[in-house]
Amino acid sequence: MKEQKKKLRPDLERKIIISVENLVKNYGRLEAVRGISFEVYEGEIFGLLGPNGAGKSTSLEIIETLRSKTSGKIFVDGIDLDRQPQEIKKIIGVQLQTSGFYPGLNLIELIQLFAGLYNHDADPMELLDLVNLRDKAKAKVKELSGGQKQRFSIATTLINDPKIIFLDEPTTGLDPQARRNLWDLIKTIRAKGTTVIITTHYMDEAEFLCDRVAIVDSGKIVAINTPDKLIDELVATGFERPKEMKQANLEDVFIHLTGKSLREG
Ligand code: ADP
Ligand code: MG
Repeated sequence: MKEQKKKLRPDLERKIIISVENLVKNYGRLEAVRGISFEVYEGEIFGLLGPNGAGKSTSLEIIETLRSKTSGKIFVDGIDLDRQPQEIKKIIGVQLQTSGFYPGLNLIELIQLFAGLYNHDADPMELLDLVNLRDKAKAKVKELSGGQKQRFSIATTLINDPKIIFLDEPTTGLDPQARRNLWDLIKTIRAKGTTVIITTHYMDEAEFLCDRVAIVDSGKIVAINTPDKLIDELVATGFERPKEMKQANLEDVFIHLTGKSLREG
């Protein structure tokens, strides 16, 4: 099996959907992003991992055309960000700000509003079904739990039927059940053929979700590979984790006692 996998040479066979070359972003004197380069393949879940302040959101928002860059070249599905940012906007899904701007609208109305802005036909109930929020169709965003808000936010990324969606720390602040539920949702979206770029500082999340990750530290990429290969490389250096004596951890206990299913509906 391993031999076969090697022969496939994913770098040659798979289509590159995002290419970032030497991206730099300075905020005044602060060098937030210091010359990062990476490629994202079509159909993968790609993670930007790093501690707070590493430059993840900055990089993401530049690719999303929401923030200016200092220098570097970016292509999204072959489109040059410097020449046709509007064309990029058409094929990407970004998480939309829904609570502050339109507090009076319910979930269906919000999706209809954004579909109108995108000039794109969207079926609100189909989207709400996908994110398991059919029961909340007539609710306002402020009436949703944290996990429900995040699921709705992910639904908003899909309104224009994008090729790529961008998720910036989608599970921060959620309880373990809601996190797992969101992971399943993200995998479902990818299974439909959408490329996903996600930022996170949770390594369990990255290991579960991401096909490949770039580890970002102080504005630089310090490693880029599949989670599996990165772990193998570390082990090959002789690294050994202190032996874990127990077969479960506190999170396992928590999930076992409170159930895997969502309480929030
Ligand atoms: P991350 O998402 O990895 O936590 P960010 O991209 O948000 O990191 O921030 C990277 C660095 O840039 C941080 O030091 C942050 O304080 C700084 N920064 C982010 N946005 C701005 C801004 N609009 N103006 C000035 N500095 C910023
Ligand atoms: Mg961030």
